[in-house]
This record gives sequence, structure tokens and C-alpha cells, in this order.
Amino acid sequence: MAQKQTNGDNKKPTLVSINRTAIDPNGCIGSLYNGYRDVLCEKLPWSNEDKLTKVHKIPQCIMKKGKKDQNESLLQIINIPEGLRLSVLLRPTGNNGIAAIINYPYPINEYTRFLLYSCVYEEEQVSEKLSKKQKTIKSVISLASATHIITCISYGIDVVVVLQLPFDKALVTAIDDALQRICIHLNDEQDALILKSDDEHILEQITNTMVYSNIPSLMELSTVYDVYLYIDENKNENIHRPIMYTLQPIKWLFPDYNEPNAYFNLIPPEFDREVEQYLIYLSNVLKNIKYSLDFSDNGLMYKYLEDQIYKKQCQWLILSKMHDHIIARLRRLIIDLRKNRTTVSKRDQLFYHVDHVNFEKSAQILQENLNDFKNKEKLIVGLRDQHFEYCNAAQLNLTKYNYEKTLKCKLKMKDRNNKILCTTDTLNKKNGSKLNLLRNQLAKECEINQNLYITYADFSYSTVELEDIEILTTSQTNNNKKSHLQKSSSTVTKNKTSTSQQSLPSSPITNDNINILLLGETGVGKSTFINAFVNYLKFKTFEQAQSNTPIVLIPVSFLMTVGDDFQERLIKFGDFDSSNNEDFDHPGESVTQHCRMYEFHLSDNDEKKLCIIDTPGFGDTRGLDQDDLNMQDILEYINELTHLNAICFLLKPNASKLHTFFRMCFIQLLDLLGPNAYQNIIFCFTNARSTFYGPGDTAPLIKTMLKSFSINNIPFKKDNTFCFDNESFRYLVALQNGIEFNNDEKHDYYESWSISVKESYRLIDYIHENLITYRSNNECKSNKHAQVEISHMIRPMLTTMQNILQNLILSKTNIKNKSITMFPKAIHRPASICLSCKPYPLQFGNFWIARNIPHEFLKKCLVCSCPIEQHIAIHYVLNSEYSNKSVSNHPEEMINMVNQLCTIGAEFDYFLVHITHSSKNDLFLPGFLRMIDEENKLCQSQKPNHLNSQLIKELTRLKNQYENRIEEFKSNQQLIDLLIINEHITTIRKYPLIQVQLDIMKQTQKMMTEPYEVSQD
Ligand SMILES: [Zn+2]
Ligand SMILES: [Zn+2]
Repeated sequence: MAQKQTNGDNKKPTLVSINRTAIDPNGCIGSLYNGYRDVLCEKLPWSNEDKLTKVHKIPQCIMKKGKKDQNESLLQIINIPEGLRLSVLLRPTGNNGIAAIINYPYPINEYTRFLLYSCVYEEEQVSEKLSKKQKTIKSVISLASATHIITCISYGIDVVVVLQLPFDKALVTAIDDALQRICIHLNDEQDALILKSDDEHILEQITNTMVYSNIPSLMELSTVYDVYLYIDENKNENIHRPIMYTLQPIKWLFPDYNEPNAYFNLIPPEFDREVEQYLIYLSNVLKNIKYSLDFSDNGLMYKYLEDQIYKKQCQWLILSKMHDHIIARLRRLIIDLRKNRTTVSKRDQLFYHVDHVNFEKSAQILQENLNDFKNKEKLIVGLRDQHFEYCNAAQLNLTKYNYEKTLKCKLKMKDRNNKILCTTDTLNKKNGSKLNLLRNQLAKECEINQNLYITYADFSYSTVELEDIEILTTSQTNNNKKSHLQKSSSTVTKNKTSTSQQSLPSSPITNDNINILLLGETGVGKSTFINAFVNYLKFKTFEQAQSNTPIVLIPVSFLMTVGDDFQERLIKFGDFDSSNNEDFDHPGESVTQHCRMYEFHLSDNDEKKLCIIDTPGFGDTRGLDQDDLNMQDILEYINELTHLNAICFLLKPNASKLHTFFRMCFIQLLDLLGPNAYQNIIFCFTNARSTFYGPGDTAPLIKTMLKSFSINNIPFKKDNTFCFDNESFRYLVALQNGIEFNNDEKHDYYESWSISVKESYRLIDYIHENLITYRSNNECKSNKHAQVEISHMIRPMLTTMQNILQNLILSKTNIKNKSITMFPKAIHRPASICLSCKPYPLQFGNFWIARNIPHEFLKKCLVCSCPIEQHIAIHYVLNSEYSNKSVSNHPEEMINMVNQLCTIGAEFDYFLVHITHSSKNDLFLPGFLRMIDEENKLCQSQKPNHLNSQLIKELTRLKNQYENRIEEFKSNQQLIDLLIINEHITTIRKYPLIQVQLDIMKQTQKMMTEPYEVSQD
């Protein structure tokens, strides 16, 4: 009984004993206990004579049914004593044994069943003839700030099975019946269990089972039948794990002890209950949102709105952090109350606190978003019934200026008749009747016309803002490949017609194209050069150029000094949009992020296209590491090309020195492409008007550099050197921007235009007549080639090892017919994962999976504020699924697979780091460490986690094996040649999960480097 206590003057302590479930199984008679926090402290040096043992056996088993919207605490259902419940709720991740039930992930409803079994085998008690070693004991107590001492312990089995039954009344009755019989039997063991023949089958229909117990091996079971078998098989064993502790206040042992920790204030029951209800409410809010994010059938959503789901999961992580803050504050409050340091000020601490208000607000927004999702799901299903194809416009990287055309191209709709209904949720809400009208109209048309395809383009999540619901129509009119794009709107009649270019080739890289790789230092003016070059080829004279619209391949901006007082003017050319590859706010600091192909038809009746591959500039202001990444990107891109016609280095004349990276880039490229490519190197100079169209001082620098290479057949002569003047192009743009020039200037620019035109044609002719197309030869792969291939394989290999280990662990448990499958998915925009951010935890049975939410970058991370170094770029996301298929491989086979991957990984690493010296770091080690770290983080916050703990052990073992292999190679100074490595690469590619990841990686790469085609309207 709790007694009224304290009031300053009333110093007489009340000796109330309390009961505490043995959440921490390490207590013994005489252990000290901190009642403020409900944790065990030191053990007192008591001997066996100090305790009495009573042996008895009282099994007890009951079944409880759940109720919808149950406000009763799970802890109350499983009989955790008041007081302790509060402590458990205040440390949501620090609970073991049956208290881990507070992490139960599913909502409690009328289909929930609790099977509670406990059997006390033995009781220990403090003996009456306690030895009085009080002096030494006292000092320990005050140090440990213990409030209580364990004086009685009951030992035995304590288990709670939480079951979720299927939504089927007949089945529920049958299951309840079987459960009831198990209960009866467990209560009275003399009674042999009479399960009907089909009971086992009926019990298999239970949707979810979670087991919480003070016995670790029971925690690992996954069916109620297995739990029953375990108890039955062990009924004659004296299982010796603590179930319950009885605690006496310190004063009970030392009446004259007066340190502050001798006082333990029981929290008034009303307040205790109020705080408990509040904590349950908070955790239910979190749980319910997570449940609808993770467990409801989100198949459609994942297909179309994955990025939006990621956003919601991020928001949930933020909400969960807010929850942590509230908990931390209340924990301090409760401890202070128990220490009698503060008095209860009631509800102010709960509902009126600013933390609570913020939590409520965020939870409400998130909940509303989830409701919108549900509505979107309904919409998609409805659209499907009407034969609409649903398309999330946000996944297409559309811009305000190109969306009509891009939408058509990206949806691969060239050769059919299409109608695309473009709208957003907001527009639908504003104008529901119009939406319905158009929807039904299109659906009807589609029914009549078999050749019509209808698409619903959802712009709700796109950066493109639609003004009104509209229908885009594309139709294939005739065979001249000209298609018609008509924009119409039923209420506002605005007809805009534009002819679009010829259809995109199925693959942008065909043998007919002239592929030119363009490389150069940041700031040399690659973008301007590309724009200028195509305009030189298009317009032979400046007059022609001036009287037509210039071709814009890449929007550029630059500063130009004009007039007699040298005024600086910012000149812009092309459509500016945040999704572009360049940084327009800072002209000159161009940051092309990825390789990108720009296509241009040499003449109107020529099928042949000129494809210029723009590359990230070297000498990047973000530092050498960025240069390395950029180089990797370039190598990967050209590795995928069928052929190259020319490798063009763009330079400025009159340079005082060559950038160090220029040399490195040169060497790495030659290394990748091999000697066959040497003849295809050409040099182009921009701004050559100042050096009278020659390479100026840069020429001797290049000569010196080329001489320093051991290879000396790289040509650098007049034939393969071309000098242009970007200034004349800039002049053209400036004129179009309304800037005026004097006659002298005009004359200069006219002249430089015609010289540049001449040089452009000379370049094309040189490629046509003098160069043999370079084709990558698959048979003689270079070291560099192997490096690029291997660098692609690191993540797929690591994740495959992890997945095999996960399934190996699952197959070792008695969880049948379950496996974890990984699905890679391409991403639409460059993204990273953050190592500092908490991963989103997903629960698959008893396995926890960390989902890394992709973080997008736009100069800085759009998701978190962690430092850039904590982010690693990814080429695809990897989702896991818990499927009802058992693992197809035999455990031994799986062990062999993991070992093979690990050994080959070590060989790859040794080959690259110690033989070709092409990589500074270990390749796989950081990945191993990352996976282990991630699993550790999961285990810290999620219970039960025995499967993840096993995974940590396995991963650590594998990491050690990997390191040992490398050490072996090193000490043997083993030689591994390219042939073996290439064989390994072939072997690795045969793993299905690796193959699919490599394929997806290519898809992402293709999406991000899709060619920009010149529109020649
Ligand atoms: Zn972060
Ligand atoms: Zn981030």
C-alpha cells in the first residue's frame, strides 16, 4: 500500500516494500536497486547462508482478448506493477524481457490475443539471521545511490505471446478454441494436450506472432505452438531465471541511514496514471503512423510515389525525435518527483508544454498526408479501371519550359496516339467537376478508339506549376516522322502548336553518331563552346546567325564588359531552371555535375548526329576529391559507349601552366582506352582571337607534358589543333540581349565568326577523313577498365553478402517459409545516403532492416544538416521485402556463396590497391564497417533483436575473414593478373542479386545522362 509521505517536517520514512518485474535478469538477493530509475546497482557481498530457498511450482496461463482503441497499457495487460510501468515507458528502448512488449509494432484491436504464461519454480528470500557487515555496505549504498535492496526473488518462466488473428470470424472462433485448450493444458500439466488434428493448421493461420519472455530462447520462437512445445518439453527442468523482485527500502536494513537516497517518494497514483496514459497516447500516435507507413498495402504507392513515401518516413523520424525529447523531459520530472525534489504541477507538464504542441502539430500534418495517400491510392485504382496509365510527373525531372515535349518523349509515346491529362490534387479539389468531365470524356474516347492511349500525369509533387487542368494530345500523323503536339484546354481555348524534333532513337548511342568527348578545366568555357560550336555549324555567316534564333543547347550566363566605361553586364542565354546541370547564379563557376550528351543534326536531311559529351570540369573548386569523383564519372560514362570518334581537350591559349589534374586525367583516360585511342585525341582552343587563332604559350606546355609520357605517339600538330573564338558567339547573345556595340567591335566579331565557322568544319572533316572510329575492345580489357567494373560491384557485392547472411540466419531459426528479398530501384535524381542520420527501422518478423532514405543535394543536403562528408553517393536505392517464400538455396550453398564473394572481394581490393595502385583505400572494409555499425544502431534502439545480433556476429566474422585474406596476399606478395580478375568479374556478375543491381545502376545512369536534343524549330 502506498502511504502518504513527506512534507518536510515529517521525516519518518515509510517502509513500503515494492514489487518489480525482473526486466534485468541479473539481480540476486542483496542486490542494490535504484528505485528512481528502476535499475539494478551493485550486489552486496552476501553469502548463501543469508538466503532461504523455497521450491514450489505454480504454473498459470490465461488468455486475454484485445479491444479496439484500447487505452489500457500493454504493460498493464501483462501485469507489470504500477510505478515500474512508468519507468519502462520512460525508457522506450532500454527494456528487455517481457517489458520489450512496449515495442510491439501492430495496433491492438479485437483480433489481438495475449497468451500469458508464467510458472514460478522457486523463491529465494533473505534469511532472518542476516550478517551485519553494515559499515562496508553503507558506503557502497550511498555511492550507488541505491534506494532499495532485493529481499525476495521468484524464479521460473515468464512469457507473453501476442497474436494477431485474421479478420475472419469462423477462423477466429477456431483459433480461440485451440488457444483455450493450450491454456487449459498449460495450467494443469497432468492433462495431456488434446489438440485436434487440424489445430496445428488452424494455428498457422495466425497473422502475426510476437513472443516476449524472460527466457532468451523463448524470445526466439515465432509461433504459439512452438512456445507450447518448449514449455511442455522443459516442464521437468527447473528453469532458473528471475521473474519478480521484491524490494525493501534501504532504511529497512539500516534504520539510521539518512542520506538523501534513503528517501523514495511514491508518485501519487492519480498522477502516475495520468502520465502513463499520456505516454501511451504518444507512443500510439507514433506507432499508428509507422504502421500505416510500413504495413498497410502500399504496393501501388511504392510503384508511383516512392519519393513521397521516403519524405513521410523522414518526417516520421523527426516526429520520433520529438517524442524522445518529451520522454527525456518527463523522465527528469518523474525522477525528481521520486527524489522528492519537486512537487507535481499536474497537466502543465503534459498537454500544455510547447514540446507537446509541436509534436501534435507535426503528427497531425503527417496523418493528413497519409490520408491524402490513401485518397491517391483510390484515385489510381479508379484511373486504372478507366484504362488510364498513371504517371507521377515528379519522377520525370520536368521543367516549366520543356514539360510538354519531355512528357511525350519520356512516356515513349512517339508511335501512338496519346492524350495526357495533366493536373494536380489542388486543381482537382478546386475544379472537381472539370476533372470528372475530362476523365470520363477521355475514358469514353479510349473505349471507342483502340489506338488511343490515355495517361494521367500527376503534377502534384512536381516543381512545375500547372495553371489549369489540361490535356496534351500527341498523334502520329504520317510517316515523315513529324509529330504534332497540341495543347488544349476545355474552358480556356488556348491553342499552341509547335512542331517537335524527329523522334528519339531507341538508344541515343548508335553507330551513326559522331561521339566527341569534351574535356577541360573548370572555367575554360565548355558550355559556351558547345553552344558556339553548334551555332557555327548551323549558321555560316554572322548575318544568318543574327537573323535566326540561335540554338541553345545549354543555358549559359556570363559577364560581359561593355561600353566605354567598361560596365559589367550579366547576360543570360536559354531557359533557366533549378534542375539544370549548371550553376547559373555564379557565372564562371560552372558545375556540370555529370557527363551529359548533347545531340545535334549536322544537316536537316542527314540522319547522322553530332553528339558532344560534356564532362564535369577538372580543377573543381570543391577540391581534388571532387576531381577524383568526376574522373570516375567520366570513365564510367565512356565505358558504356560503343564508340568514340574524338577525344577533345579544350584549353585556353597562353596558359602559364597546365593544371595538375589535366595530366592525371590524360593518363587515366589513356589507361582506360588503350593505345588505339591515341590517334583520336584532338586539341581545341577557345578565346583564340587574342593569339591570332593559334595555341599561344599553351603549346610548349602540352608538348612538354606529352614528352614526359613514356608513350610518344600522341599527335599534337596543326592538323588536330583547332582554334575558336567564343567571343563572337557571346557577342551574338549580347546583341540578342539588346546590348549595342560600335563598328570596330562589330567588324572584329564578324571576322571571328567566319574563322570559327571554318575551324568547325575543318574539325568535322578531320574526324570524318583522318580518324578511325575508336571502339572499345572487350577482349583486351585494361586495368583501368577492371577498376571501373570493380568500383561498380562494391555495393552490390556487400549487399548481396548481407542478404545471404540474413536469409542464412532465418533458415537456421524455425521460422519457416520466410525470406528477405532485396529490390534495387533506379533513382531519378542524384542522391546520397547519410551516415550520421538514423536509418528508418523496418520490422520483418523479428528481423530489423535499416532503410536508408536517399538524400537529395542542391548545393547542400535537402534532408538533413549533417556535414557533406557524412554523405555517400548512391546510384540506386535498395528496398527489402519480407516474402513468404523460403530461401531457395541450401544453407551450405549460401555459406559457400558468402565465402566466395568475400574472397573475391579481397582479391579485387588487393589487385587495385597493391598491384595497380589505382586506389588509395581499401574498397570493401568501409562497407563492412558501415553495415556492422548500422546493425549496432538498430540493436540499440529496437527489441527484440536476437536475429540482428547474430547478423552482427556473422558480418564481423566475414570482415575478419576479408582482412585475413588481404594479409595473406600481402605476405605472399601474390601476383594476381588481369585475366584472373576478369574471370572473377564474370563469376560475380552471375549472382542474380548482383546482376540486377548492376542493371539498375545503368538505368539510373541512363536517366541522369539522358541526351539533350537540340530543338531546331
Ligand atoms: Zn544526416
Ligand atoms: Zn543528408
